[in-house]
Amino acid sequence: MDFRDTPEETAFRQEVREFIAREAPKQEGTGDRDIISSYAQVFVQSQQWFKKLSERGWIAPAWPKEYGGAGMTVMQQFIFNEEMAEARATRPLHLIIGVAMAGPTLIVHGNEEQKKYHLPRIISGEDIWCQGFSEPEAGSDLASLRTRAVREGDDYVINGQKIWTTIAHLSKWMLLLARTDPDAPKHRGITYFILDMKSPGVDVRPLVNMAGGYEFSEVFFTNVRVPKANIIGEENRGWYAAMSTLDFERSAIGSAIGLRQTVEDIILYAKEHTNDGTSMLCANPMLRYELVDRLLETEVGRMLSYRVVSLQSKGLIPNYEAAVVKLYNMELDQRIARTGMTVLGPYGQLDRGSKWAPLRGRLEYMYLRAVGSTLETGTSEIQRNIVATRGLGLPRGD
Ligand SMILES: Cc1cc2nc3c(=O)[nH]c(=O)nc-3n(C[C@H](O)[C@H](O)[C@H](O)COP(=O)(O)OP(=O)(O)OC[C@H]3O[C@@H](n4cnc5c(N)ncnc54)[C@H](O)[C@@H]3O)c2cc1C
Repeated sequence: MDFRDTPEETAFRQEVREFIAREAPKQEGTGDRDIISSYAQVFVQSQQWFKKLSERGWIAPAWPKEYGGAGMTVMQQFIFNEEMAEARATRPLHLIIGVAMAGPTLIVHGNEEQKKYHLPRIISGEDIWCQGFSEPEAGSDLASLRTRAVREGDDYVINGQKIWTTIAHLSKWMLLLARTDPDAPKHRGITYFILDMKSPGVDVRPLVNMAGGYEFSEVFFTNVRVPKANIIGEENRGWYAAMSTLDFERSAIGSAIGLRQTVEDIILYAKEHTNDGTSMLCANPMLRYELVDRLLETEVGRMLSYRVVSLQSKGLIPNYEAAVVKLYNMELDQRIARTGMTVLGPYGQLDRGSKWAPLRGRLEYMYLRAVGSTLETGTSEIQRNIVATRGLGLPRGD
């Protein structure tokens, strides 16, 4: 791969950079980590900024113009994302499931009516989406899900429960997996639905994560009616479309640039803070090596992301390659949080509410939140299984 921008890409990068410098709301360089627990607050505060992005089609730059995107190449979209990350510009995180997962799924598997209705509403920020896959007894073994959908006339009636549903409390729509044929082999009796979260019988109950953030919920369904027209693809063939949603999700997760910036912030902190005039890095030379390792690892993470983008730019949906990126970057997320806590020492435990919290409590939050990084979108073990079987061609373990 040639890593250099073409002249057109250079011009585009410059345009994006200038736009962000001119229009993005100014915030003390913190990026996503500060806001992840408060999607709703960011949504309100950044309305104007998101509107400007949306007007340019830059909420989903590579989507076709007819659906509200900017019709850009995948590479231009990547450049846009890189510039947003470098500038630490606020990203519309509340739209991430719509933009990174629901939209791409509908573009590949949805019918024309679904695309025309939903895609522009995702881009305008009008509709927020969530992903209803996991259940209390179906996480890694997703195909054993038990939420039932029973056909009644032109509707399906849904009963069951989902769990860990990120931003369910803010969402208008859910990507729902439900069992339509309990007698078929477990992967073949599942249908993929678009569920209106405002339908009668949908009950969203909050779950608070160990970092104190309200990100996800349990969602209960009691006789919820979903029209047949809301099936994505075909009845009982939902599993295959849902697997591409997971590929899209893993391709989009985790910015290596954001991770590098966190390591740079930790390095700066370590340089500036001394014990009786002696830098902590002199007192603890092993910490210097650790910081060097973390910085190098963010470069590896960036290179792995390029592989995913180069496949996407050829029109392919990355599969085990996306699992590699997810696995590597999310385990790195945890290592960086641990290194950061070592550098900050006991002060690192102070949370964002304390005026004494170093780096405004970002690392304390990151350290606790990062526990979930190797679980969400499929655990590290599941990613390793994908890479082993689909990437390396090794036999299955079961
Ligand atoms: C922050 C966060 C956000 C999330 N958001 C969503 C969301 O929006 N929508 C949604 O549907 N879900 C969401 N999830 C749920 C997530 O997808 C599941 O937690 C994940 O798939 C693991 O399932 P589980 O929790 O049931 O663990 P289990 O599947 O019970 O796994 C328990 C342990 O066993 C290991 N294990 C299981 N099977 C195997 C195997 N075959 N080989 C080796 N090891 C194995 C796992 O790696 C894990 O360590 C979210 C989770 C988190 C943490």
